[in-house]
Amino acid sequence: MKPLQLQCDVLVLTCIDYRFPHLVCDYLDDHGLIGNYDIFTLPGASLGACCPEYPHWNKTLEEVINLALGLHSIKKIVVINHEECGAFQKLRGVPEKKSDEILMHGAQAKITHEWFKAHFPQLELEFIYMRLCGEAEKLISAT
Ligand SMILES: [Zn+2]
Repeated sequence: MKPLQLQCDVLVLTCIDYRFPHLVCDYLDDHGLIGNYDIFTLPGASLGACCPEYPHWNKTLEEVINLALGLHSIKKIVVINHEECGAFQKLRGVPEKKSDEILMHGAQAKITHEWFKAHFPQLELEFIYMRLCGEAEKLISAT
């Protein structure tokens, strides 16, 4: 019997934070991705992807992406970081000003973006920062 050819366009990388799964699903639904994404979580999302304190997370992510490419032919990775992220606070500290928090996420997104481009240059990338209210803005968007 020939296996079914399953396909989806996107692999979403989010944080593990319990406050966000429904907000992330709502965001993805609102952006036309219902039934069109795989999802994987690491503490800190972009930080977990490239985290010197936990280098094996990066290896696991690489394996998951390769699996998603083989199983579902993904074309894009969407990384969703979030406000008041405990992983960022534990590993990178709490910024003095609330407004600096998004800058910290943006700096990490650039590091993780470079890693993705070096290892998976064929994939489109998008980096999102989500607030506790569910509002989202792009940290980086590039192909
Ligand atoms: Zn988090």
